[in-house]
Amino acid sequence: MSTQAAITAKITRRPKATVTRFRNAIGKYKVVRTDRCTGCGLCAKLCPHGVHVRYEGYSRTTRPKDHLCRGTWCKENCDYYCIDKCPAGALSMGLNPVYESMGDPRWTPDMILSTWDQAENGRITNETLEPHLGASGGGFDKLRLNFPKEPALKLKPSEVDTHLSLNRRGSGPKVVIDVPWYGGGMSYGSVSPATMVGKAHACMVWNSFTCTGEGGYPPHLYPYDDHVITQVATGLFGVREETIQRVRIVEFKYAQGAKPGLGGHLLGDKNTPAVARMREAVAGTSLFSPFPFHSVYSIEDHKKHVDWVLAMNPKALVSAKVSTPNDVDMVAVGSYYAGVHIVHLDGSYGGTGAAPDIAKKNIAMPIEYAIPKVHQFLVNEGIRDKVTLIASGGLRNVHDLVKAICLGANGAVIGTAEMVALECIRCGACESGRGCARGIATTDPELSLQFDYEWAARRITNLYSSWHAQLVDILVRFGIRSVSELVGRTDLLHHVDYSE
Ligand code: SF4
Ligand code: SF4
Repeated sequence: MSTQAAITAKITRRPKATVTRFRNAIGKYKVVRTDRCTGCGLCAKLCPHGVHVRYEGYSRTTRPKDHLCRGTWCKENCDYYCIDKCPAGALSMGLNPVYESMGDPRWTPDMILSTWDQAENGRITNETLEPHLGASGGGFDKLRLNFPKEPALKLKPSEVDTHLSLNRRGSGPKVVIDVPWYGGGMSYGSVSPATMVGKAHACMVWNSFTCTGEGGYPPHLYPYDDHVITQVATGLFGVREETIQRVRIVEFKYAQGAKPGLGGHLLGDKNTPAVARMREAVAGTSLFSPFPFHSVYSIEDHKKHVDWVLAMNPKALVSAKVSTPNDVDMVAVGSYYAGVHIVHLDGSYGGTGAAPDIAKKNIAMPIEYAIPKVHQFLVNEGIRDKVTLIASGGLRNVHDLVKAICLGANGAVIGTAEMVALECIRCGACESGRGCARGIATTDPELSLQFDYEWAARRITNLYSSWHAQLVDILVRFGIRSVSELVGRTDLLHHVDYSE
């Protein structure tokens, strides 16, 4: 049995604890025990979260496992708050300086830690972290879900349906995924082989898809062919007839929301001999994929692209990934008439550290504006039921996913959340030198060895399990039987600046 086949047999949708790679796990709080401690062991008896431990036969408690600490929540809600209970006054607690230095307003430290928690345990175990809202002051952070006090329809979790059909054109192959999201394109060259396989594996377990990105189709992905979207981007790196024929979905990447108009750029240091072989390029040189496709200047040209792919692989669905300019609604309609099955809108805010901040913040339309604009335009054109509208670009958690669907998308593509599941710290250094020091967004043979396929696959599968459970819970709370019934339900949202 190959290593990957052996892993396949072991990983299921049932969450399995997959512990952190940090030698000292990072939490929100720092608990300090001074030498005034007498070793009475009271704190170990009191704390139900396992922060304080005194092993049988030892006279001292161990160094506090403060990543498990619930901090001020304990002080406000419990009668076992160890800091106040310690008879020697030996304990103190405050915010962990490492926690305070992490993240940014979109990916707050709470959201990062909560995503790590879900990737470790397959569910949210630490309720003291805010997993759904960032502090950006706009976008999805200003939208809230309108849960009714009592749902009109009382449903059991087993009665709700989270499937998404990716072909709504009425002809061609039927492709249905079990969850309304799939993994975003990260190329061979931008991320490590273990990252790629971990993503693919989770998508196979959850009957969804991952995407190759634009760096070719590495052999590690062959066992996952049925769950891979192969991408054709402007650089055509590693694109061959054979790679198009392997898969069930082919995606044309016309632009990226994080850097529309800028194309792709792989710096020389990340272009290792293995990456260069896959891209049919020279190792050590910087590689550019230009913007735009110089073979596409009209919808007719776009249709030729689609026909070209379908001539090679008549069983494939075709997706067009576009950024979100002002006329994105026209682009979506044109894509439909060109024959695509999936219109993938990529708004600003997504992207790894490889996308410059100035581009992420200032060029494309934020996805929360683009979705309803395109949805309504397709409705007015009478073709909304024929198009699968997928949104990406800064969707960080299940609430963002549901908000995107309520605004009019059928589903979403996630990228950064998968990286964070692998313990990305959002340092933004994906593109510099040898790449990610955490071994995630790197092609360096040494850095890439920091974790293996199995750890990556388990972490992302756990995250998906947690998301699925939360999605089911949201549908039950709304009293809505299926994800497809959520599409365009803006009445289920409110904007905090405009609500009574
Ligand atoms: S309760 Fe205080 S004195 Fe007793 S073991 Fe804990 S820190 Fe030490
Ligand atoms: S930890 Fe790695 S993947 Fe995450 S932002 Fe930093 S360099 Fe990029």
